[in-house]
Amino acid sequence: MRWGDMRESENVEDRTGTPGGGFPLGGGMRLGLGSIIIIVIGSLLFGINPLEILGLLSGGPAPPSQQSAPGYGPQNPPAPGTSRPRSEDAQLSTHVFGDTEDVWSALFKAGGARYDPPKLVLFEGGTNTACGSASAAVGPFYCPGDRSVYLDTSFFQQLRNRFGAPGDFAQGYVIAHEVGHHVQNLLGTMRKFDAQAERLDARSRNELSVRLELQADCYAGVWGFFAQKRNLLDAGDMEEGLRAAAAVGDDQIQKRMQGYTAPESFTHGSAQQRMRWFKTGFDSGDFRNCNTFDVRQP
Ligand SMILES: [Zn+2]
Repeated sequence: MRWGDMRESENVEDRTGTPGGGFPLGGGMRLGLGSIIIIVIGSLLFGINPLEILGLLSGGPAPPSQQSAPGYGPQNPPAPGTSRPRSEDAQLSTHVFGDTEDVWSALFKAGGARYDPPKLVLFEGGTNTACGSASAAVGPFYCPGDRSVYLDTSFFQQLRNRFGAPGDFAQGYVIAHEVGHHVQNLLGTMRKFDAQAERLDARSRNELSVRLELQADCYAGVWGFFAQKRNLLDAGDMEEGLRAAAAVGDDQIQKRMQGYTAPESFTHGSAQQRMRWFKTGFDSGDFRNCNTFDVRQP
């Protein structure tokens, strides 16, 4: 992935110089890419019942035709307010985040709406969020309360080593998945999800959660489609994304953590499902195809 050619986001807060600090606020971290979250936190959100959440914008498909602005600034600036050089993972995150802003802005615009971008918070160790205090153990997640994507910079090492999904596009997928949750927030999908989930038993909530997560995977694929379209990807990147999607599948994680899988406890979807929906977005570039709530079997 030619992430250095992607525009750097200005909506990044780097807290990596100030580790720790965080008193529990209660509430749950949610919507992590992974399922690490689940293992660690158990069952937080979950439940469901196929509901229809359409909430998609009216208006057509919408290739962002506008090329992203030709890279701003030096490749290796220190983080604002510090003199520390930023890690390569932090730089990549900033560029990819900027690119998701360009893609979703164009898609929303084509639908007659305005994309209000989320914030990316980079941290290490732990940090406070509107969803409670976060530790590195939860993995990346989106907090609707403060419209921010939280990313512990050590996660990418885990992705490479523990999950066996190396590669810059694998990292891009992770970020784009969390941004996908922000899109769900903007489109009202998340609100409907919460309202519905409240009334469901645990098993149904899990099913609904899987649909929400698979849709975020599909949205990540949509971003990938436009990155490819603008020649920002390398050969093999799509496969790299698929490998990452599979690696964070609930079945894979459960197998690794507990030696068996319990599909009724899935909250993010199996490797198969995650790959399938990522690919749906990647192949079509049309986020209206990400109708995980409408199909019988996502
Ligand atoms: Zn998620």
